[in-house]
Amino acid sequence: MTYVVTEPCIKCRYSACVAVCPVDAFKMGANMLVIDPDSCIDCGACEPECPTTAIFEEGEVPEKWADYTKLNATYAEQWPDITEQREALPDAEKWKDVEDKKSLFDPNPGS
Ligand code: SF4
Repeated sequence: MTYVVTEPCIKCRYSACVAVCPVDAFKMGANMLVIDPDSCIDCGACEPECPTTAIFEEGEVPEKWADYTKLNATYAEQWPDITEQREALPDAEKWKDVEDKKSLFDPNPGS
């Protein structure tokens, strides 16, 4: 099993989750993070750290965000590691509670 980052992360990318991950399982995209399912040890430490409640255990991902499980696996192979907490994206507070952000997903790697 793994944990999964879902839609609320888009355009926020607070990354408090990264600071508590014992195995550096997070990868950074241009406007969200994902978890590498091959690295995640299912410890659950990251879940309560997320200010947008974007992280779920794989079996508890809400149905409306079910496709994020595959999205995490796909982009974990393409995006760079992120091993330390960074500044949230500039408009994170503005986007934090916005719904239906999937169309704003950016497939480019973060930097
Ligand atoms: Fe890292 Fe644990 Fe979160 Fe998996 S569940 S990404 S190992 S903090």
